[in-house]
Amino acid sequence: MSTGLAIHPGKTIGVLGGGQLGRMLAQAANRLGYRVQIYEPQEDCPAGAAAYREVNAPYEDLAALTDFARGCDVITFEFENVPAASLQAIESLAVLRPHWNVLWTAQNRSREKRWLRDHQFPHAKFAEGTDVAAGIREVGVPCVVKTADFGYDGKGQLKVMTEADIAAAVQKFAGQPVVIEQFVDFACEVSAVVARSPSAAVRVFPIAENIHTNHILDFSIVPARVAPAVAAAAEKLARLIAEKINLVGVMGVEFFVTKTGEVLVNELAPRTHNSGHWTLDACMTSQFEQQVRAICGLPLGAVTLQSPVVMVNILGDAWAQGEPNWDALLAQPNVRLHLYGKTDPRPGRKMGHFTVLARDADMALEFARKYKARLGGAAP
Ligand code: AMP
Repeated sequence: MSTGLAIHPGKTIGVLGGGQLGRMLAQAANRLGYRVQIYEPQEDCPAGAAAYREVNAPYEDLAALTDFARGCDVITFEFENVPAASLQAIESLAVLRPHWNVLWTAQNRSREKRWLRDHQFPHAKFAEGTDVAAGIREVGVPCVVKTADFGYDGKGQLKVMTEADIAAAVQKFAGQPVVIEQFVDFACEVSAVVARSPSAAVRVFPIAENIHTNHILDFSIVPARVAPAVAAAAEKLARLIAEKINLVGVMGVEFFVTKTGEVLVNELAPRTHNSGHWTLDACMTSQFEQQVRAICGLPLGAVTLQSPVVMVNILGDAWAQGEPNWDALLAQPNVRLHLYGKTDPRPGRKMGHFTVLARDADMALEFARKYKARLGGAAP
């Protein structure tokens, strides 16, 4: 359905945040004939290299932000820690999608968990506040203590597996607002990327199964190796969340699948998601193109899986023994490599990813593990 208010190719998309998500968004938007401007505090960002214009200023600099917004037809964000107040300040200057309210809810773990509870979405039991000891008593051990603000990729988290771990958690988070979650002894983790357009059309990409290592996504496997009912439940939850939160744009939803097949919502990210990068190579429409379509009010694209696929994150660790062996990877006929143009390969930093296509998910994972081991400069 067309709303008649679509922002058509040729117009300007402004993106707050200049990381790899912004870069891949800019690449998808460029292909559709949009002009992309990036707003990012740090110079020489990955997205800036793929954009028409890059503005470097703090998110709190409302004069620079206002000037940026005036040059855009639609504005979105690719980074979850943009202050919601900065978005609110520019909402009258350009179309802002998603609404700042969605970011405000998702960027703080307390608000996010409360929102899930208030709307009766299944989630792990939690407590919140600044009294860590009381929260742990309420939730019970084992649990995970997480800072309410600025947490991602396991940053600002501590597992409390036994009573003996409590003191360290209390000390680490003393006085900070935290969320304390019941530790979920999950069978696996899965995620969905859902898109919703201004006319309320919704599409959910096939569910991905995710393997994390040291709290950072390592592999995404599609189709997820879960029972059809589990995939259907995750897909339905993602759709309902997008509707309830009034999303216009794209959102990643992470889930825990318990050993009894229950699907619990872990986290919401109102932007493209690392566990959706495989869509670039295994779907007609990538999550980045879908984001362009959704925020511009274009018809949403097809989300059908074209081939089983595994995505592997390439972290800075792969440089431990020098430049990774790109030639070996690129020699494989079933691999696509995506690098983000970052120059400083610190351990844990996401430098790129690759995808492996194969006849089935298990085979793709087997190839992926093998290629990953060869890439990281493992001893000959
Ligand atoms: P998060 O930043 O909350 O997505 O956490 C990063 C990763 O830590 C998750 O993907 C899980 O692998 C693990 N984790 C986080 N919270 C829990 C929990 N309550 N129970 C078990 N594992 C968790």
